[in-house]
Amino acid sequence: MDINSKPIIKKAIDKINEFGNQIEREVKIMHVCGSHEHTICNYGIRDVLPDNITVVPGPGCPVCVTTQKEIDEAIYLAEQGYTIATLGDMYRVPGSDKSLMQLQSEGADVRIVSGIPEAVKIAKTTDKKVVFVAIGFETTAPTTAAELLSIKAKYDSNKNSANELNFYIHNCHRQTPPVMDFLLGGGSKLNLDGFICPGHVSTITGLKPYYAPCEKYHAPMVIAGFEPTDVLMSLVMLLNQIKDDVAKVENEYIRGVREEGNVVAQKMINTVFTDKDVAWRGFPVIKNGGFELKDEFKRYDIKNIIDMPEIKEKINKGCICSEILRGEKLPTDCKLFGKACDPINPVGSCMVSDEGTCRIFYKYKKLI
Ligand code: SF4
Repeated sequence: MDINSKPIIKKAIDKINEFGNQIEREVKIMHVCGSHEHTICNYGIRDVLPDNITVVPGPGCPVCVTTQKEIDEAIYLAEQGYTIATLGDMYRVPGSDKSLMQLQSEGADVRIVSGIPEAVKIAKTTDKKVVFVAIGFETTAPTTAAELLSIKAKYDSNKNSANELNFYIHNCHRQTPPVMDFLLGGGSKLNLDGFICPGHVSTITGLKPYYAPCEKYHAPMVIAGFEPTDVLMSLVMLLNQIKDDVAKVENEYIRGVREEGNVVAQKMINTVFTDKDVAWRGFPVIKNGGFELKDEFKRYDIKNIIDMPEIKEKINKGCICSEILRGEKLPTDCKLFGKACDPINPVGSCMVSDEGTCRIFYKYKKLI
């Protein structure tokens, strides 16, 4: 059966309008996933919602939520002669003065890699210190954990060769549910009514991390897949809860997400990392918003190896990425959107990655 068949889509839209009309007040729902924003923009989902229902994009792009300070730290490391291995998106994010891409054009050793295994391969071919910029949510943290477990197992078996690989990470990983908790607890000027929970992250975490914020803030939460019908059905489920004044965690994406999540990936994360309070771009320090390497893996964190100078967080002039990441503004509210800032010449992180809200709005809405 085609889940995006016209009758199913029509039925879902009818239900959204029926429930929306019954609620008789403004409802604000946030999602925290760039892929959901792609679906919403590509299929014009906002255009079929009743006037009182708003769906806003939140901090759903790993590149975007990495702080300017962390970008500047990666740039500092490249300037100091380290080999920086990074995903292509991070390469282009502007730091305070320049990007890793600009630094590479000035002669710094910056390599674009497809992931941490490629960065490790580079480390095996050079005597230089190689630093992988490890970004991402619960979806990419397991790959970092797996690689560090493998390196540790190999090099720890020979004490003389411990860490001779000269491989390190610049740890910028984040955990998603804590930022949702923060947003519900007054971290956004919006009075959020509920969340479309991220499908990819939830394949790893399962439903458990959402139960506490759902109960604490009486906020409905529905995990959604990425087809238009998935997003529409998640809205039907959320509005059904809101109209009945109930709050529970539901899973619309049952073909991708299990209640318990991916326990193998969770085990790898829990072996290598522990929770850490960290700032996100646009946010203050979020309790348990990030990961820290456990003691036995700490030597792979470059910040534990060198004296990194204190670098202050700065925001590029005119850029409102912070407000966009908190769901308080849209890219079209930015004076630079599509003018001084576009995907070729991005001013802020949200215009760089395919998952960034500005980039997505530029792709789908620039003619509107
Ligand atoms: Fe920042 Fe550009 Fe987005 Fe404006 S359009 S918020 S400058 S990334």
